[in-house]
Amino acid sequence: MASIFTQIVQGEIPSHRVHEDEAHYAFLDINPVQPGHTLVIPKREVDELFDLPADELAALWQFAQVVAAALKAETGCARVVSVVVGYEVPHAHIHLIPTSHLEDFPIPPRGTLDHTAAAALAARVHART
Ligand code: AMP
Repeated sequence: MASIFTQIVQGEIPSHRVHEDEAHYAFLDINPVQPGHTLVIPKREVDELFDLPADELAALWQFAQVVAAALKAETGCARVVSVVVGYEVPHAHIHLIPTSHLEDFPIPPRGTLDHTAAAALAARVHART
């Protein structure tokens, strides 16, 4: 079963297209965090963003850069926040959200770093890089 985003690319589900090239598609999110909230996707269906081969990942971010510049110019926002989530739709995508204040993109409360645990975790992750 094709992902909902593949169905959008194929025109089976309507979308508000923002930009498109041979390999990528950008369209407005149906539940925007802010006006202009845009999703940028590769047309090729891959689940997680970091599953993309390096060249396709780079091309997707370059396409997103073009879209972000257009969103910033059009909305007059201060920053375009880019977020990768992916829990709802298993088709790689980048959220581009025009914002002018931190409150425009609320970040949940964060913890305080335990430096002993952090040093051990950092070392374990480093060993896998
Ligand atoms: P996530 O996979 O958690 O990054 O979230 C998927 C995003 O896709 C959500 O922000 C949804 O609002 C958005 N979304 C889901 N279906 C559609 C659709 N048909 N058109 C536009 N955006 C959609």
